[in-house]
Amino acid sequence: MNDSHSNKQNTIEQVKSSALETTQRLSNQVLISGKLTNALSHQSFDVIHPGDLSVIGSAPMCTEADVNAAVESAETAFHKWKKVPARDRGRMLQKAADYVEKNSVLLEQVLALDTGNAIRTQARPETASSIDLLRMFGGLAGELKGETVPSGNSQVLQYTTRDPIGVIAGIIPWNAPLFLFVAKIAPAIAAGNTVVIKTAEQAPLCVLLMAEMINTELPAGVLNIISGFGEQCGKPLVQHPAIRKVTFTGSLEVGQAISGYVAPKLCPVTLELGGKNPSIVMADADLELAVPGIIDGMRYTRQGQACTAGSRVFIHESIYDQVIDGVVKKLAEIKLGNPLDEQTDMGAIISAEQFKRTLDYMEIAKKTPDARILFGGNCPTDAYLSRGYYYPPTLLDGLSLESRLCQEEIFGPIATVLPFSKFDEMIDAANNTPYGLAANLWTRDLSRALEYIDRIEAGFVQVNQCVAPRSNVSYGGLKMSGLGKEYALDSMLNHFTCSKTVLINPGTPNQNL
Ligand code: ADP
Repeated sequence: MNDSHSNKQNTIEQVKSSALETTQRLSNQVLISGKLTNALSHQSFDVIHPGDLSVIGSAPMCTEADVNAAVESAETAFHKWKKVPARDRGRMLQKAADYVEKNSVLLEQVLALDTGNAIRTQARPETASSIDLLRMFGGLAGELKGETVPSGNSQVLQYTTRDPIGVIAGIIPWNAPLFLFVAKIAPAIAAGNTVVIKTAEQAPLCVLLMAEMINTELPAGVLNIISGFGEQCGKPLVQHPAIRKVTFTGSLEVGQAISGYVAPKLCPVTLELGGKNPSIVMADADLELAVPGIIDGMRYTRQGQACTAGSRVFIHESIYDQVIDGVVKKLAEIKLGNPLDEQTDMGAIISAEQFKRTLDYMEIAKKTPDARILFGGNCPTDAYLSRGYYYPPTLLDGLSLESRLCQEEIFGPIATVLPFSKFDEMIDAANNTPYGLAANLWTRDLSRALEYIDRIEAGFVQVNQCVAPRSNVSYGGLKMSGLGKEYALDSMLNHFTCSKTVLINPGTPNQNL
């Protein structure tokens, strides 16, 4: 027993030390003009592994000078890249996907180290789905076509083009950094644009590693990566005059700020923002699906750090206790632990700030007179887990719909349960937030399901299942959850191209020829 425990520890340590070689190598680097290089800014910040708070490397705190260098690199590359035939651009992305796939073990290790997400349940599947998304957009490059429009005059030719926009800025968060990185760059690059990405300060190294791999198949300057903070680096990037399109995933507040920064130059923005999503269990639901569905939907194994987390669980009062019993039994099986351990289901919360946020919301819950902690609700006391930002999956009830826990996006492993008796009241309650991202319903009644689909204010709606957003399935929010959809063909066509409408009147033929 002791031997197998120490063998396991050795394996985890070996994985960590080999991934650390890479994070150290990538430290203090940006990717500009096709090369990893030192940033112009001499300041940097530590990158922390949230599992044990060790420093795994550092990243440059880029400012305007680095922004300018990255945008200039992308602008120079754009003039040639836009002339490369679309299917050739796509083939390069597909070769890049093959290369990343060959090196995916290292990538998933660095992802787990950077984010604290568990390697088996999160980092490996995220790496695989990011490769899939990259490959998919490579294949879709041939779909960049305009339309012809019939005219009243058979002599007049009317058509539209689909052209690259220019240099695109992407700002990404830390919660699914690889997938969101690819969701920005792959459609943009396939469509003939060049890109500057600002990574999230909490998880910059995994993205830089994947970018380094993809860059091996692209001309220099097509893909540029800088790191740093929002005001110092993100703001000058989106405001740069050469940036003609911004794509952002993150919080509502920052999304609103970015829209404001770029409004004077009439620069289009795609925004993937937050959610406070309902998971609804009707009285006739198949509980074999609904009980694990609530847990999957809450993304507990990503510490609840997902925009789509179904953090408000509405359960019909007739099956309330039964469903809660089922969910609590399954939550007890979730193993919290070292993100690099293959046995771990749920890793660590990304940062001190997010950890504190979870604790603060729990303080509110603990001070609410009727609130009950159905599961979790306290930091683990285990020696290893107390070294990092670990918090158990937590389920609460007894909170009112108006409670901050039922209105605000916690982005931590806390879900609240609310009983309901009437479908109409439940739909009103489910819609009662500023957000409109995802919604999940479990029922065997098809007519109810169709009514729910019609009335629910959400952009990503599921019935009797709750899978994470994926390649080829268009994803985006309504209301304050965003602007535009990503992950599928329409993302590339609608958000990363511009169009000319052309009308040609050939005139009269030259009779002398
Ligand atoms: P989260 O709460 O998930 O960290 P944020 O919206 O704060 O989400 O951050 C998402 C991304 O937006 C990060 O890369 C962050 O550095 C960047 N960011 C934050 N503030 C700004 C800003 N004022 N301008 C541009 N980018 C910003």
